[in-house]
Amino acid sequence: MRITRLEVRDIRFPTSKALDGSDAMNPDPDYSSAYVILHTDTEWKGYGSTFTIGRGNDVVCAAVMAHEHLVVGLTLEEFRAAPGAVWRRLNGDSQLRWIGPDKGVIHLALAAIVNALWDLYARHAGKPVWKLVSEFTPEQFVASVDFRYLTDALTPQEALDLLRRAESGKAERIARLEREGYPAYTTSAGWLGYPDDKIRRLCREAVAEGWNHIKVKVGRDLQDDIRRLGIIREEIGWDRKLMVDANQVWDVPQAIEWMQSLAPFKPWWIEEPTSPDDVLGHAAIARAMEPLGIGVATGEHGMNRILFKQLLQARAISFCQIDSCRLGGVNENLAVLLLAAKYGVPVCPHAGGVGLCEFVQHMSMIDFTSVSGSWDGRVCEFVDHLHEHFTDPCRIRAGRYLAPEKAGYSTEMHVETLARYEFPGGTEWR
Ligand SMILES: [Mg+2]
Repeated sequence: MRITRLEVRDIRFPTSKALDGSDAMNPDPDYSSAYVILHTDTEWKGYGSTFTIGRGNDVVCAAVMAHEHLVVGLTLEEFRAAPGAVWRRLNGDSQLRWIGPDKGVIHLALAAIVNALWDLYARHAGKPVWKLVSEFTPEQFVASVDFRYLTDALTPQEALDLLRRAESGKAERIARLEREGYPAYTTSAGWLGYPDDKIRRLCREAVAEGWNHIKVKVGRDLQDDIRRLGIIREEIGWDRKLMVDANQVWDVPQAIEWMQSLAPFKPWWIEEPTSPDDVLGHAAIARAMEPLGIGVATGEHGMNRILFKQLLQARAISFCQIDSCRLGGVNENLAVLLLAAKYGVPVCPHAGGVGLCEFVQHMSMIDFTSVSGSWDGRVCEFVDHLHEHFTDPCRIRAGRYLAPEKAGYSTEMHVETLARYEFPGGTEWR
């Protein structure tokens, strides 16, 4: 099966109208997707997406099309035989590499294409991506990863050993996942800009729905944070885990000081306390948080596997937040799952946006079945936005993601959604 055409659509949702998704850094996002369709010389198609928050989505779409010469003509058989080598080729065009490498717009664009390739692979195999990869041999798994720049931390042989150890009990874990689903947490209650009564109502609803982990945004105003965290603790009690997320607004000393003030509310982690690129800054914050019992989490803006390697090497994070579209799609996420397992750091993916929950749930499930072999101390983010636009939306029951059953990567959007939300010509934007 050969790819004959690369198509990209600029899809934007006007989420800024309701302050959904508002945080200290991003006050008015319009959740958007650079949406990729891979056409083949058969009836099969692959769907992929990368996530942005509005302006600039057209730039990502242009960067997707810059890969056309690498994608058109590629066969599914080639990709299946060596997904890691194909990923390296897609990521390694010498001229495109200049506007990366492994970062920024060009890497977001790569993710949309790579996610579509895995969707095509899994659809054709008749399995959801999580199950397809869970059933890989350790050798197939290792062949899906590009180890370039990683071997000082993790060699292919070490990865093989790690995956072979995880083979034991894998069948039971797959069965358990299909029975019970994967642990999740919710961010739906805690956007900045929601009035107090809405926060209270959303917290009560979250507790009633069975959520044991709840995350809220902080970092715009300390007194406001203290008031809101007080309200939230009143509603959710002290047994449930509460996480806070500053979305990169602080300098390092400010992060430490601010979190010392929020420590009485016993946050489980502080997420994105400072610049996503600042490995040593995160390490300094992590050292300062240790006596307070607060972990440091980051990764949703972690541009590539090399940055994650350094965060892990520097003991800068206690929670590893992969992102299905910020990293270069499935392959690079698998690389980071391996790195995190090697360093014994739990993977708690970033999700939300549009489609991120649908996609990254597969990665958490692969981590459980095949890599870390555990879900203790691990939760995958859930935000209740925009799922209705997908043909295989994620399903949540009592605070857990149910394992996807449909073939593919849960990436396909409804045709009506594309017509309505395409920018700027769709009915919603005209
Ligand atoms: Mg976040």
